[in-house]
Amino acid sequence: MTLPPNVYDAEPIPESARAEIERLLQTGDLFRYTAPEDAPVTLLETEFAEMMGTRYALAVSSCSAALFLSLKALDLPRDAKVLLPGFTFAAVPSAVVHADCRPVLCEVGENYRIDIADFESRLDDVQAVIISHMRGHTSDMDRIMALCDQRGIPVVEDAAHSLGTTWRGRNIGTIGQIGCFSFQSYKLVNAGEGGILITDDADLVARAIIMSGAYEHMWKKHKARRGENSDDLVQALQRWQNQLPLYNLRLSNMSATIIRAQLPEIPRRVRDGRRNHDHTAARIEESPWLTVPAKLPQEERAPDSLQFNLVGLSDENTLAFQAAAARLGVKVQVFGMSTDNARAFWNWQFIPDLPELPATRAMLMRACDCRLPARLTTSECDVVADALIAAAQEVMGDTRAYGT
Ligand SMILES: *Cc1c(COP(=O)(O)O)cnc(C)c1O
Repeated sequence: MTLPPNVYDAEPIPESARAEIERLLQTGDLFRYTAPEDAPVTLLETEFAEMMGTRYALAVSSCSAALFLSLKALDLPRDAKVLLPGFTFAAVPSAVVHADCRPVLCEVGENYRIDIADFESRLDDVQAVIISHMRGHTSDMDRIMALCDQRGIPVVEDAAHSLGTTWRGRNIGTIGQIGCFSFQSYKLVNAGEGGILITDDADLVARAIIMSGAYEHMWKKHKARRGENSDDLVQALQRWQNQLPLYNLRLSNMSATIIRAQLPEIPRRVRDGRRNHDHTAARIEESPWLTVPAKLPQEERAPDSLQFNLVGLSDENTLAFQAAAARLGVKVQVFGMSTDNARAFWNWQFIPDLPELPATRAMLMRACDCRLPARLTTSECDVVADALIAAAQEVMGDTRAYGT
């Protein structure tokens, strides 16, 4: 019998990072702007931009920092309203507050995606939108972009957990004006901490570069992606010289080295993560009490965790299911039923006039979250699926009485 897998351990950092880490240790060359050129952070930026197909990338200390700088780069006035989904991580509305803007939340449906009618109804006096692809679930980007473009509202994609996801073949993070990614340990690429923003807009990236801490003429070390002309960027940087505050949100060469070594691993992690997810999702659909909402047809996912909904369970049943799964060795978090969960909007009490979102709340009370890293084997995924099915059966029995 296979034991329940350890879903918390990270993958080792690829061996290919070792020589460069040794060089950094020997030389102490950790600051991105010390070397005259080709510092690991700069190389990460040009490689990431090339991989994503954007003109520019700016590596920073976290995805939260990237979101904050995106709002600052958009030059929003104080108290500007920024619309975001009611299902995301608390760091996202926090970035809005940090940028002196006001978070406006919209409803998210049972499929973890933005309710477009509710989104549209709240767009009127909004000055920017952040689309969080929460747990890598992509909302309808065609409709979101159409609604925002009509009104001239800029869209920032919070793709923290969406590296490798595509929408009609296009990389997530390249659809809005700016895309932001995370390299924190629970994301597809693990540097402990780190983030990056990507854009095609020279003026936006120039502002973000300076505010990230490119003081004096450090910005001269920033470039467009390989083979692209950097003249627009240089002109924009010269225009903003001495005009902007420095928030010092830079990434170190050590982090960049650890990230760069993992870039070639991305296609494998995406492929195996999708295999594990789709296998486990299909298995748990055998249970009448568990369901995995379908993705939108335009989307190809890159999951490293599994979300599913409990169907027909009361609050008490839900807690009993969570306890039964834990006894079988699989930890499930019900977003709305665990104390102080940072993904439950009612815990974002730093937002003034925190709204009620009944549909999002109902979803969170039955939506389960289960880690499912790409490194698991299919038989380990079967152990997870068996435990989830058995836990539901233990609490609810074999069959569901439809229509009662
Ligand atoms: C992890 C995460 C963040 C925050 O990323 P950090 O790099 O830790 O700041 C933001 N949004 C989503 C959807 C995330 O999953």
